[in-house]
Amino acid sequence: MSTPTLEQVNAALATVQDPEIKRPITELGMVDTVEISDTGAVTLTVLLTVSGCPLKDTITRDVTTAVEGVPGVTGVDLTLGVMSAEQRAGLQEVLRGGQAQREIQFAQPGSLTKVFAIASGKGGVGKSSITVNLALAMAKQGLSVGIVDADIYGHSVPAMLGVADVRPTQVEDLIMPVPTPSGVSVISIGMLKPRRDQVVAWRGPMLDRALVQMLSDVYWGDLDVLLLDLPPGTGDVAISLGQHLPGAEVVVVTTPQEAAAEVAERAGTMASMLHQRVVGVIENMSYLPCPHCTADGSADHRLEIFGSGGGDRVASTLSSRFGYDVPVLGRIPLDVSLREGGDAGKPIVDSDPTAIGAQELTAIAGKLSGRGRGLAGMQLGLTPSSKF
Ligand code: ADP
Repeated sequence: MSTPTLEQVNAALATVQDPEIKRPITELGMVDTVEISDTGAVTLTVLLTVSGCPLKDTITRDVTTAVEGVPGVTGVDLTLGVMSAEQRAGLQEVLRGGQAQREIQFAQPGSLTKVFAIASGKGGVGKSSITVNLALAMAKQGLSVGIVDADIYGHSVPAMLGVADVRPTQVEDLIMPVPTPSGVSVISIGMLKPRRDQVVAWRGPMLDRALVQMLSDVYWGDLDVLLLDLPPGTGDVAISLGQHLPGAEVVVVTTPQEAAAEVAERAGTMASMLHQRVVGVIENMSYLPCPHCTADGSADHRLEIFGSGGGDRVASTLSSRFGYDVPVLGRIPLDVSLREGGDAGKPIVDSDPTAIGAQELTAIAGKLSGRGRGLAGMQLGLTPSSKF
């Protein structure tokens, strides 16, 4: 067999993506040197963005596999190096597309990313569980999905995705979102804290800065969908989001309980005051499928642990308040495997996809991702453009 050419090896390397940045390593200046011996042995150096890169094993495996696949290659000797400060600055420029200024890409008029903020009136209603499962269901539908976990009280999203202790990689002042096995990328407000056990005792301006940082200092690439897990209630983060991303569409999560529904209505109304469109209501913990009746399939007997009617109530109140239809997007039952999946870092749509809750979440994800990009809050270019 003839000796492989440099073009062939480079073409193979161009198929390898950096797992965090999700672009070919050849475009990112990560391939430093490539040498091919007469016998077909390839010796190459690939530069990591930072030393101790948590994904270096993945890069090693992917590069080796790609180069070994080139006809005529008899061996691969890969050395991993680390980019210099200058090389990292160059990479940062490539990623920013030559733009020196920070801006929120999702707020630009031409942005094709759908942004959904998941809101609730109070904590513990399953907002974060729903966010991660919707994200995974959308990723399974082939979409590129990112999550911003802006819940200052909970910030439980990384744990639910199995990346609780992972810190994001930083290339100069550009932050890489943390990739997860499901393909969903995540940045959490908890990752901006120096220590995991530290309390986020931030108020208005600090929270605003943190939110802007998660939206503009993070290299999100081309996302189809961005989901934001908001803190419960009508606080500072919701106001900041309304100011920076008025085009975000809001999904309100409630339980069937009267008291939960009442506060959920307030969260929805707040979004509307900030000119965001509320696209629907999800009722979580709607019922418990009776373990005795469903076990033998004899009846669809539902135990209404938290009462009933909360989802319908929020939907009809918001519909009449806003003058447009705010539907109930779905009802998710109480399910032990949903809770277990969250605790284990393996959300139910992946770990138990045939469970009723997983199917319902997948159906809701389909409804949301199928929506056209709304014009609410978008700058239409009819007025002099203004920065937020
Ligand atoms: P929030 O984000 O609203 O505070 P979480 O998503 O953190 O709520 O959920 C609170 C707890 O309830 C978690 O332990 C979660 O696993 C559990 N949980 C949420 N929804 C369900 C459900 N439908 N069935 C069983 N447990 C659930």
